[in-house]
Amino acid sequence: MIIVDSMLGKLSRYLRLIGYEVEYIGSDKDDSYIISICKDRLMITRDRQLHERVANSILLRSFDTLEQLKELKGKLPPAEHSFMELCSVCGTIVERAELNGDVPDYVNKNAKEIFRCKKCGRYYWNGSHTDHFRKQMEMIGYEIH
Ligand SMILES: [Zn+2]
Repeated sequence: MIIVDSMLGKLSRYLRLIGYEVEYIGSDKDDSYIISICKDRLMITRDRQLHERVANSILLRSFDTLEQLKELKGKLPPAEHSFMELCSVCGTIVERAELNGDVPDYVNKNAKEIFRCKKCGRYYWNGSHTDHFRKQMEMIGYEIH
């Protein structure tokens, strides 16, 4: 489980899609709370002061998510899950779902299978959008499995 500090919400969603268990910390939490939950877990932050107070942390400089992923390349442990196994929003493992009226027609027509997050209800399916994302990640150097 990686702790991801506020201001890195998009990064936390990308990391979940490539298989990382991520706890995203909202901006309402103070530094002492974050330090207390990090203990021996890895933390990613853009906050230099917080970085200096947490031994096992990575300081990112870029505001751009893909650039942030480049900064992280080679610094993360192997991902716990496969590509698109986790809901990007809440981190729950998604389950195969029936094609039905809850998703747009073009999805029912084009997707061979769809997945649904049991916790937040979000649907996922493979298509050109996921192919594009996977290629981006592989170009940066992430092993997608
Ligand atoms: Zn979810």
